[in-house]
Amino acid sequence: MVLENLVIPFQINNKIKGTIVRLSSVASQIIKNEYPRNINSIFADSISITASIGSRMKNDGVFSFQAHSEGVIKTIFVDLNNNSSVRGYISVNSFENIENLPFEKLISNGTLALNIKEGKFSKNYQGLVEIKGKSIKDAIDTYFNSSEQVKSFFKLFNIFNLSKYEPESNHIAGAIKLELMPEINDFKNTEKSNEDWKTILMFLETMNSEEFLNINKTSKQILLNLFGQYEIKIFDEINLNNNCQCSNERVLNTFKSMDQKDITYLFNKKKSIEVVCEFCKKIRVYSEQDLK
Ligand SMILES: [Zn+2]
Repeated sequence: MVLENLVIPFQINNKIKGTIVRLSSVASQIIKNEYPRNINSIFADSISITASIGSRMKNDGVFSFQAHSEGVIKTIFVDLNNNSSVRGYISVNSFENIENLPFEKLISNGTLALNIKEGKFSKNYQGLVEIKGKSIKDAIDTYFNSSEQVKSFFKLFNIFNLSKYEPESNHIAGAIKLELMPEINDFKNTEKSNEDWKTILMFLETMNSEEFLNINKTSKQILLNLFGQYEIKIFDEINLNNNCQCSNERVLNTFKSMDQKDITYLFNKKKSIEVVCEFCKKIRVYSEQDLK
């Protein structure tokens, strides 16, 4: 029985780079199970995608996933920094009768942006795609197939797609991400790699959410079951956490950057105001005096 919050990079035959993600408490603390299953499921997949792409940030780096839409879901934001800390929030336009709505109604006229910010002095990188199709997976596939030379494949799993919500015996969210490295000027090897790639994707398609999220198997066991017949290298695991980066100092800095008349307006004769962190929901109370 192992509840994990892990990302583990691996490699198959030196040709395919992979990442396995399985999250329990880290995902449940972000999702908080506040919305119906269909929305939680999209949120869970967004967290898994973020973890599978952004887990190796360096130098004050932050990877972020942002979806905006005009459907029921207004915003999904998830980010992951170089301290392996992941956070996220979701906001919706309406709460009425949303339980049974399909993906296209939850996210319509949507865009997905992935952003990498590394260090103070390096450039930011952002890519943007329209969200089309029937799932977040479709959107991320479009993203990678339109903007990168490397073939990639995502398989996403989450507890909200299971028949029962049982977080004691299942992980909340997870993913396997695979990338086929291009061969340069080697057509024979390219053919062989393409064949292996197809077979490996077939193996992966046989994996269902019940099996993947079950806590009786570790992530390493899952990898060996799936790809054990290939030469597989499994690298050091990365433990994710929910440590929020918010602080009193950061809030005060935000106030300092505001005009005095905006601050006066904010207080509007009140003695104090509450500032709620949208990620960890911590409440901080400030009087106008505190900001001087
Ligand atoms: Zn916070």
